[in-house]
Amino acid sequence: AHLDAIAARDGALNSYLHVDGETALATAADVDRRRAAGEELGALAGVPVALKDVVVTDGVPTTSGSKILEGWRPPYDATVAERLKAAGTVLLGKTNMDEFAMGSSTENSAYGPTRNPWDHDRIPGGSSGGSSAAVAGFLAPWSIGTDTGGSIRQPAAVTGLVGHKPTYGSVSRYGLIAFSSSLDQAGPMTRTVADAALMHEVIGGYDHRDSTSIDAPAAPYVEAARQGATGDLSGVTVGVVRELGGDGHTDGYEPGVLAAFRAGVEQLRALGAEVREVSCPSFDLALAAYYLIAPSEASSNLSRFDGVRYGLRVGDDGSRDLDEVMAATRAQGFGPEVKRRIILGTYALSAGYYDAYYGQAQKVRTLIGGDFASAFADVDVLVSPTSPIVAFPIGQRVDDPLAMYAADLCTLPASLAGLPAISVPCGLSEGLPVGLQVMAPAMADDRCYRVAAALE
Ligand code: GLN
Repeated sequence: AHLDAIAARDGALNSYLHVDGETALATAADVDRRRAAGEELGALAGVPVALKDVVVTDGVPTTSGSKILEGWRPPYDATVAERLKAAGTVLLGKTNMDEFAMGSSTENSAYGPTRNPWDHDRIPGGSSGGSSAAVAGFLAPWSIGTDTGGSIRQPAAVTGLVGHKPTYGSVSRYGLIAFSSSLDQAGPMTRTVADAALMHEVIGGYDHRDSTSIDAPAAPYVEAARQGATGDLSGVTVGVVRELGGDGHTDGYEPGVLAAFRAGVEQLRALGAEVREVSCPSFDLALAAYYLIAPSEASSNLSRFDGVRYGLRVGDDGSRDLDEVMAATRAQGFGPEVKRRIILGTYALSAGYYDAYYGQAQKVRTLIGGDFASAFADVDVLVSPTSPIVAFPIGQRVDDPLAMYAADLCTLPASLAGLPAISVPCGLSEGLPVGLQVMAPAMADDRCYRVAAALE
């Protein structure tokens, strides 16, 4: 049914970059055969899934939305893909994304933009916009996205889905094509909180192949979602972050988004939560710090795309030396936003500017962590809108990088502090979905699931 839906409707949405129906049907048939034979099956046997194309998949094309990786078939599975496979899921395909996950609209994909199923003239969020559109458009029951500064939560918010960015280190990064390694994290994009919790339990947990993987027992996410679904939040203290859309901090926020968010907060109060306002002054600096740290790490991570090791190679006709082939490959293989980030990051890391830019940004990162720590001394979770704006029209912000970056205002603090954060639908503004973000202390992802499930 999902393959039929993709064939019928993905021409308009462009949510998938690669679909292999034959393999999907063969995998599904194999599950049927093993079930009939009475064999023991994985927890998700036969359930279809879509993976963002930043997730490396054995023998299946993986581009990270870039021309530079066109034609590359990885020789191994990412841990996330391996665990989903072991659970018995059926891979429908790989989803579109902003090139190397840099963007908030999926307009930076080298393979054309993805459209929002709610309104085909609008963006589906980004960078995991193929994953959001596929699930919101009923072309997959759920999907995997990755989030460096908001790329699971913001696309989930603007397409009416649930999206959870796990605690940094709670899901293995092994086999995710690196953008900004100290921030990148994979997570579920689903239609319900219970689905997200279930998927997180399947993909999460310690992995020795990721040096930042946390070796500690995880909280029971599904149980937390179940508890939240009872609709009782008594005993839970919720902090509303003033700097994220509160009084005096509404610049750039659409009134309809703030109204839906405030209605969500009132609902939390009605379910028994104690609600207070909390101030996190350094959150105002998150955008500036992120757009130094993420490009800095990207400029280092992307140096592996040299025209020799993977995918595209340009000008290798014997007339050019190695440097010239490398330059020609990168000139043609990388899109404009990726080039902008590499230049920005290289500049920020250069000897004369390191302390002024990268060093300062790291100090801000520490301050943000401090603000979270003080807030969580008083409250169990923090809430904010997920995105200050609803899905905007395709093309509206492509020529204005700063306006594009502003879409990340609310999601960046939790990213910089490595904390878990979920986006859950909280209403509509002008007929388009609005998301409410719930942030929690490290390894307390269960609190995100509980509060989000209560609101659902
Ligand atoms: N929009 C942010 C950026 O462009 C975040 C992207 C992400 O989380 N991958 O960097």
